[in-house]
Amino acid sequence: MIVIMEPEASQEHVNKVINKAQEYGFRTIINQGDLQTVVALIGDETKISGPDLFEELNGVRRVERIQVPFKLASKAYKHEDSVFEIYPGVKIGGAEDLLVMAGPCSVETEEGIMQTAKAAKASGAKVLRGGAYKPRTAPRTFEGLGELGLRLLKQAKDETGLPIVTEIMDIRDLDKVCENADILQVGARNMQNFSMLNEIGKAQKPVLLKRGMSATIDEWLLAAERIMHHGNSKVILCERGIRSFDAKYTRNILDVSAVPIIKKLSHLPIIVDPSHGTGKRHLVRSMCFAGVASGADGLMIEMHPDPENALSDGPQSLTFEQFDELMKEIRELESVMRKLNKTKNLVTA
Ligand code: PEP
Ligand code: MN
Repeated sequence: MIVIMEPEASQEHVNKVINKAQEYGFRTIINQGDLQTVVALIGDETKISGPDLFEELNGVRRVERIQVPFKLASKAYKHEDSVFEIYPGVKIGGAEDLLVMAGPCSVETEEGIMQTAKAAKASGAKVLRGGAYKPRTAPRTFEGLGELGLRLLKQAKDETGLPIVTEIMDIRDLDKVCENADILQVGARNMQNFSMLNEIGKAQKPVLLKRGMSATIDEWLLAAERIMHHGNSKVILCERGIRSFDAKYTRNILDVSAVPIIKKLSHLPIIVDPSHGTGKRHLVRSMCFAGVASGADGLMIEMHPDPENALSDGPQSLTFEQFDELMKEIRELESVMRKLNKTKNLVTA
């Protein structure tokens, strides 16, 4: 961390910075220029809450961090990309095949989820998604089947062998969700539900951590850090679009640049969710391609037997046929990307 003093800062101001730095275990190097003094702090920056600890001192103009604010999730801590098994025989991360998670927004009926699971599997999806507890903005809309939804997901898994990812909305449901799901989904709205993240960190299930709709990349990685700090290192990040000023044509702005940025900062796997990222069926295909091209480890795609009549997120859900077609194209693009990445390291280009 570097503390840049005001030109008019006195020696006493500089001493206060040095004392505070030493209090927190930093070594200091003082660079006294003609106009300004700069104090370099050497030590573990993750031990302090943030630059404001020094910014608030008199005579300080600006403080710059050098280290990233997260540790366990960082590439500096672990150089190799994390690869982990989310279910026997199903891995994510590193140079593993692109992992596609697909299914309806919500589990609605037994017949619907069974049909969807079979279609998803036949087209090459490796994980079945489906919400049993739905975060809905408006009350009096469909909020999911709850426990019945979890049981139906389990039934679909027993039938197809596809592992399940489903959202946990209330930490009181943790045991029930863990019993039926293979991956715990933390939704965008709960990315900063810190008490939930703490508890999920103690669970021994992989976690799909969606990016909060207004979360910066550092905030998102700090949420991952929190889960990891509590003992669970199997965190998969999911870029699902962020809020911006133009919501006329898309539900969110899918930030595909987050993928190469995360790849630089973190060893954790990251997937892209073009369904929630755009909110529009006609944009899902191209944004899936963008996700693959960006270097994502997987995709999350919503599909439904009858999107027109879906109880949630119908406008962004693909039909089975559209999904099947898209999966073929995704495989082609994946092989092109593999070739390109072999000859040129795009991540560091
Ligand atoms: C979902 O996956 O159905 C969902 C509600 O996603 P998000 O939290 O990204 O809005
Ligand atoms: Mn949805």
